[in-house]
Amino acid sequence: MKRNYEYIVLGLGGLGSGAAYWLSRKAGGEVLGLEQYEIGHVRGESQDHSRIIRLSYHNTAYVELAKLAYDAWHTLERESGDQVVLKTGGLDIAKHDTKIPLDTYRTAMSACNVEYEDLDADEIMKRWPQFTLSDDIEGLFQEDSGIAMAARANAAHQKMARANGATLIDNTPVTNIVTSGDEVTVETPDGTFTCRKLVIAAGPWSNRALGYLGMEIPLEVTREQVTYFAAQHPEDFAPDRFPVWIWMDDPCFYGFPTFGEAGPKAAQDAGGKPTTADTRDFEVEPENLRGVEEFLSRYIPGALGPIIYTKTCLYTLTPDRDFVIDTVPGHDNVVVAIGAGHAFKFASQIGRLLSELALTGESTIDLEPFVLDRPILKMRNPPKNYMQ
Ligand SMILES: Cc1cc2nc3c(=O)[nH]c(=O)nc-3n(C[C@H](O)[C@H](O)[C@H](O)COP(=O)(O)OP(=O)(O)OC[C@H]3O[C@@H](n4cnc5c(N)ncnc54)[C@H](O)[C@@H]3O)c2cc1C
Repeated sequence: MKRNYEYIVLGLGGLGSGAAYWLSRKAGGEVLGLEQYEIGHVRGESQDHSRIIRLSYHNTAYVELAKLAYDAWHTLERESGDQVVLKTGGLDIAKHDTKIPLDTYRTAMSACNVEYEDLDADEIMKRWPQFTLSDDIEGLFQEDSGIAMAARANAAHQKMARANGATLIDNTPVTNIVTSGDEVTVETPDGTFTCRKLVIAAGPWSNRALGYLGMEIPLEVTREQVTYFAAQHPEDFAPDRFPVWIWMDDPCFYGFPTFGEAGPKAAQDAGGKPTTADTRDFEVEPENLRGVEEFLSRYIPGALGPIIYTKTCLYTLTPDRDFVIDTVPGHDNVVVAIGAGHAFKFASQIGRLLSELALTGESTIDLEPFVLDRPILKMRNPPKNYMQ
């Protein structure tokens, strides 16, 4: 068995699978991916049918990153022959006095030349009668938003990484990392592997992986959940008749057209309780579910119906909810990414950025907003702002 590689990727969730794919396009058989559980397991952050993808973001760094994200997914689609993004259009809706002002989104999109439409409640209900909105509600519609097909996209990344010669091994946890000079050694129960550059994409296990390098940052792992509803008329929520949507307030709710199951999906963003990746449970949180049902009954009543199922999932939240995409300080041959509970849409692009950092030590875009040594990540008890 080959034990020495140019590049090792620790973790094959959304981001790690993206990194393995982009590295494999340049380095083929010199890429090893190590996953602690079976590939496609549901204990992390990246499974399920759908994640929202959107250009609509609160600052220009994310809007520009989102443009590149579409480009990265299209490359994957072209090379794999698998569709992984479905455009449905996206609606950000809020009351005029919301805690997540739509103006920051307007400003960021305008600065990045992204077109969007301002819609009042009447216009929204005219286009999508599935909504029941009062006059004090407005919306932003952006036509490129849609669904990133999470499980499918991960499988496409993995398929193409393997087709390019990469080795992806499941059920192999990395239990220690040692860097020395030009070499990184990763220890597993099945023996050690060495490489020139290590990519860490450990999701909710990030602090454990960083801990092997003597580093810890203030991350909060929360247990989130999403619910599929058997709407009476699921066809009213077909992707060509109903957009992805986000209720831009605290609490923040979001949802999807009928996709992957026989009815629409809805959830609360960052509404889950703190947990850890190793001690979390998979039980439904009834209060959280009630909040989603109450929201739907008020604003999208036709989406409510018997529950098809509720699925739990984890967020790994930085206090400012900004990503980490960086070289680990003091360990030039280790790069890391952490998704902050909104990274799936960027998984291929973050994988591309990680591959650039690993291949050349540099990236094609400015990664300053995502550095590991930003002040808030050095605080012991930083203020948290999960609503953007
Ligand atoms: C309910 C929910 C809804 C979401 N909605 C959206 C959305 O609409 N749009 C969006 O863009 N994002 C969304 N996100 C966020 C997005 O899904 C995550 O940011 C993204 O999937 C993170 O991927 P990851 O690869 O960092 O983590 P993970 O998918 O958890 O992958 C980490 C992997 O590393 C492995 N690993 C960890 N430690 C080791 C080790 N020591 N050795 C070997 N393997 C290891 C783990 O087993 C795991 O497979 C949502 C997340 C959830 C939970």
